[in-house]
Amino acid sequence: MSRAFNFSAGPAMLPEAVMRKAESEFLDWNNTGMSVMEMSHRSKEYMSVAHQMEADLREVMAIPDNYKVLFIHGGASLQFAGIPMNLAEQGDTVDYLNTGVWSTKAIKEASRYTNVNVIAGGQEANPTEVPDISEWQFSDDAKYIHICSNETITGLELQDEHLEAIFSQGKPVIADMSSNIMSREIDVNKYAMIYAGAQKNIGPAGLAIVIVREDMLGHARSNTPTLLNWEIYANNESMFNTPATYAWYLAGLVFDWIKTTGGVKHIATVNQKKASKLYQYIDESDFYSNSIKVSERSWMNVTFNLKNSDLDAEFLEQSKAAGLLSLKGHKAFGGMRASIYNAMPEEGIDALIVFMKQFALDNA
Ligand code: PMP
Repeated sequence: MSRAFNFSAGPAMLPEAVMRKAESEFLDWNNTGMSVMEMSHRSKEYMSVAHQMEADLREVMAIPDNYKVLFIHGGASLQFAGIPMNLAEQGDTVDYLNTGVWSTKAIKEASRYTNVNVIAGGQEANPTEVPDISEWQFSDDAKYIHICSNETITGLELQDEHLEAIFSQGKPVIADMSSNIMSREIDVNKYAMIYAGAQKNIGPAGLAIVIVREDMLGHARSNTPTLLNWEIYANNESMFNTPATYAWYLAGLVFDWIKTTGGVKHIATVNQKKASKLYQYIDESDFYSNSIKVSERSWMNVTFNLKNSDLDAEFLEQSKAAGLLSLKGHKAFGGMRASIYNAMPEEGIDALIVFMKQFALDNA
């Protein structure tokens, strides 16, 4: 059996060591005679898995004690509604920066529940740069400011200067980190709430992680569905109802893998190296190009176009045959996209570059 390099945007490649460990424990976890999937979520055994998972996540992200970590079904998209429902009343003003499709989706959903001021952006569906900070218009009375730290479709990532401009407003900052969580070190203290769908840097799909400062709890509007109310999750160890037990377990294996491979600090160094290698090759070649503003290019999602798009289908067919999977870009943006999350080894980037070079030569 051989494992391919899978460049899917999500669900995405998981570390091989994690998959092997899960395989070895699949039928019998820790001599219990059961798979983790078959255990009661209230059992002593499962609670030990859950507690370890949370402790490891807290360690790898250095999450302070005054933050709760919640594990919520429904992916990141459910939180698009959960955020206004937990933090604002109908008619309150909230600020959203629009940097692409995922920001737009969050804005659309929040607009159903509250009054959204778009700080900047939204003129184009898939912008290739972050709106200039000088154009940003915050509202005085916003309950919170929402950002998407990495737009997965285009590969556009907010930089320190953007984050500083957001933090300087002194408002609670909410960040959708679905596609760059744990890819580099961040200071959790700067955020009121961070959320991420699991299927990229965390584990299997179906689960979202919510990291929320305690003072953000207890403000949900009265008609918030129970399973969207963060306080209910916080008071019940995210077990008000039956959680996605196996997804939690696998996420726990990923957190442990991050710890044992040197933590987020080390992973960030590798991520930066991986991304710059690939961008460097794209920039050097006259066969491929990337349209994102250079200083705002994502470390996680590298988009590129072939100069001659008639060759796209052939590129995808040959790359697949070479064991380089899921390179097709999102249909909304076209071209190609290599999603190179934490689990993608550097050898995957090297193999992709070798393939791209050869394809360019063959089709020159
Ligand atoms: N935000 C971002 C930045 C994403 O990339 C995605 C999924 N690709 C989502 C939100 C939605 O996540 P989910 O499918 O888990 O709801």
